[in-house]
Amino acid sequence: MIRLRALSAAPKRVVHGCFLLVFLLLTLLTWREAVILKEDYEITKRDQLETTSNTLERFGQRSTDELIFYRNLMRRALQSPVKNSEIAQLLAQFEQQRDHEVWHLSPGNPQAIPVEGVADRWVKQHDLLNRDDALRLQDELTATLGISMLLQIEDPRRNFHSRIWYISRGGFFLSSSPTGVNTLESYARMVSRPYFTRMTPQANPERKMLWTGVYDGLNNQGKAITTSIPLDHHGYWYGVLAMDFSLARLRACLQQALPPGISGNVMIFNRNMELVVESDRLPLPGHSFSPEERKKMLSAVADRKQGTLRFGSRFVIWTRSHQFHWVLVNIQTLKEGVAEETGRASMVLIVMWLLFGAGLILCHQLIIRLFDRMLTLQDTLSWRANYDSLTRLLNRGAFFEKAEQLAHHCKHAQLPFSVIQMDLDRFKSVNDTWGHQAGDLVLSHAAATIQSAIRTKDVAGRIGGEEFCLALPATGLEEAVEIAERVRQKLASKEVLIDTTRTLTITVSIGVASSEEQQVYQFESLQSVADSRLYQAKTAGRNRVCAED
Ligand code: GH3
Ligand code: MG
Ligand code: MG
Repeated sequence: MIRLRALSAAPKRVVHGCFLLVFLLLTLLTWREAVILKEDYEITKRDQLETTSNTLERFGQRSTDELIFYRNLMRRALQSPVKNSEIAQLLAQFEQQRDHEVWHLSPGNPQAIPVEGVADRWVKQHDLLNRDDALRLQDELTATLGISMLLQIEDPRRNFHSRIWYISRGGFFLSSSPTGVNTLESYARMVSRPYFTRMTPQANPERKMLWTGVYDGLNNQGKAITTSIPLDHHGYWYGVLAMDFSLARLRACLQQALPPGISGNVMIFNRNMELVVESDRLPLPGHSFSPEERKKMLSAVADRKQGTLRFGSRFVIWTRSHQFHWVLVNIQTLKEGVAEETGRASMVLIVMWLLFGAGLILCHQLIIRLFDRMLTLQDTLSWRANYDSLTRLLNRGAFFEKAEQLAHHCKHAQLPFSVIQMDLDRFKSVNDTWGHQAGDLVLSHAAATIQSAIRTKDVAGRIGGEEFCLALPATGLEEAVEIAERVRQKLASKEVLIDTTRTLTITVSIGVASSEEQQVYQFESLQSVADSRLYQAKTAGRNRVCAED
């Protein structure tokens, strides 16, 4: 039985192993699916942001191309100024007004944009400004008046930029849309702004296009950013061509650039990761960066052109513009991610994994329980096959088998082996007097007494109705007789309670045989000798031990 138990552990381990394997396989497959979904999601998001970025870049490119176009046009005009009669008239007008605090030169066309200027004395006060060279000033004014005709066809509603303007170091400017404040104030503000002051040959030796940060624009246009480019000709810095992008306009263009299906907040940051504008007018929680996250973004943006980052449950995709100083960022919260198709598919996958997992655990538990029940049944059947249910001693067959093994073992170990044969005295009368049930009770009492009187190495069995046998390994005749005597006395000294009021005493007759005196180890022979000695004990008056013929 013990061996059976030990054997049962191995198949149980196989069941555990199989279920674990299936669970791991299921988890692996789910994980693989999840990774594919995640990659698919990331690719979709990256594509959407890339599309947005490309559209915005197209808008931006169109605007900056325009700025460069105006600079080239002015350079051309400076190279060969067109001095027609109208221009000559306007230049004469300038000469008359140049001492006025503010002045305006309006070309004949009523829609043309006027050139606005300030007085000579105001220009003199500022280091960056210069109106000393009369010829140069005339050429520059001529070129400026020339492009004023073109600027009138600018349509701020269709452009990415909200304004284009030329700021001259000669104390005047030209703006595609009215500045809204008085000329002197506008000009004073323009020439103090970084888009102008950073354009000196010392500050910008490469004469490249520069971008400002977000600032409060003129003309109540709200917050804006400006890009500017210097106008130089024959080594002289004439002024600055600038372009404003109001944040309101940028947001409108950003929203227009968003491809269908994109979710979450799309934001434009400058390269310092300072927010310029975002697609959501009222950003939801989770759509901004903590200082720590901003730091991580800064180093990521410095390293790569595009990428993804995870901040807690938020997923961040970013792409850096190829031409412009902006970084486009799309933040997706978990809630937004789950609401999407891939998110929903992921949720279904997780739920399926959970359900399969739970089902698997349930099946495993059922099988293990079934297994345990089977083993218990096996144990019960095996016990029943070997034991007598009334006395709980080995039955005849099992006892003979065990006793033969012990005898064999003793023979090999050259140890004595003894057999005790017992038969309850006048047991039939117990049945007859007190009934069969009382007889059973006496039998079970006798078996318990026998068992308690022997040593642990001894084996007891019920070999007949009221006949018991003991196999005593490594025991000589003398010692066997002692044990037999002990059993006899113990049994004779105990009273068996038949019912609540009556007791009876049972005795036993015993025959003992040993390999020591018989010179045989065959169990059946020894048992036969012991049985004949038992008979002798019976005939001699019962309740005694007989160990000789
Ligand atoms: P003796 O001293 O000569 O051995 O007398 P005895 O009455 O014990 O001898 P006998 O062999 O004639 O009687 C044995 C009786 O044991 C007969 C049978 O009714 C009874 N018996 C055998 N097996 C069982 C059992 O399982 N339960 C009960 N109650 N009685 C049993
Ligand atoms: Mg008998
Ligand atoms: Mg008997």
